[in-house]
Amino acid sequence: MERIRFERSVEKAAFFSPLAGMEFAEQTIEVRRDPLTGMTAVASSELATKEEAFYGTTDWEYADELARKSREGCFFCPEKVMETTPRYPENVLPGGRLRRGRALVFPNLFPLAALHAVITYPDLHFLRPSQFTPDLLDEGLGAAIDFAARAERAYDDLEHLELCCNHMLPAGASLVHPHFQMFGGLAVPWLLRTMWERAAAFQAEHGVPYWRALVDEETERGERFIAAKAGCTWLAPFAPTGGREVIAVLPGFRRIAELGGEQVAALAAGLSKVLAWYEREGLSAFNFTLGGGPLAAGSAGHAVTLRVVARSAFRHEYRTDDYFLQKQLGGELIFLTPEEIAATLRPGFAGG
Ligand SMILES: [Zn+2]
Repeated sequence: MERIRFERSVEKAAFFSPLAGMEFAEQTIEVRRDPLTGMTAVASSELATKEEAFYGTTDWEYADELARKSREGCFFCPEKVMETTPRYPENVLPGGRLRRGRALVFPNLFPLAALHAVITYPDLHFLRPSQFTPDLLDEGLGAAIDFAARAERAYDDLEHLELCCNHMLPAGASLVHPHFQMFGGLAVPWLLRTMWERAAAFQAEHGVPYWRALVDEETERGERFIAAKAGCTWLAPFAPTGGREVIAVLPGFRRIAELGGEQVAALAAGLSKVLAWYEREGLSAFNFTLGGGPLAAGSAGHAVTLRVVARSAFRHEYRTDDYFLQKQLGGELIFLTPEEIAATLRPGFAGG
């Protein structure tokens, strides 16, 4: 029995088109459905030419100017960070904050969950995507995972815990200074809960975890497979949830606090390659989320995943890439197909 269903449907839109000299013309639209959540992603024969209008190209001069202007008085920069950011109580973090290499962890002053921490690099006020090197990400992700393990012990009633990132204004960042966020609490966000419920239902139906089956299936098919290392498989998802989405799946791990140094290094190395590619493509803003299954013990069928998407490029009058389709209907657009993304990234990942 087919376990993972890569469902796609085709529909046509027909009209007298100025693109065809006002002749009657048809455009072909392909709708893909995510095998886990059912979220849709749409590709059309004419859309490929429109990506520039949606995502744009970064104005680096403008970005550098914003970085300069926001440097003075920045709360995350070295002169201020220890005075102006909160501290955790000793039972959560001895000393109140956690430092690992260049990374520093402290509470978010405006939390949106019982546990909401910030991870930043105080000495680095601004970073282009390509400047998130494997070493730097290893320190940041490593600090976050170290903190996740401590947080799980200190807050024994947490239901969920994720490491998230908004980078640059079009991705929702309120500060220019790069930072990640550890987000954990009791009320599980809707999409996360949906993914958990579907993964649990898949496990009950097939007797194997969805994520393991997905990795096996995509590895065998090859067309969306990018690379695999240290139990971490990189894929371009069949029905992406955002621009140029790439995911890492770690079927052997169910919670982020379980990740070891080898997995953190593999995630850091892969994420660094994806972000560098975004920058080469003229992009600058991105979101990522690294999360696992429910924190309650004994939950089978889940895995740690990292999902990264590019957002509208930073420039004057940038246009958001989220409109009614994404924001209200739960759909996404495909400009570059997942198969093309995987083919583009595969050689770079093969280099180690
Ligand atoms: Zn700063």
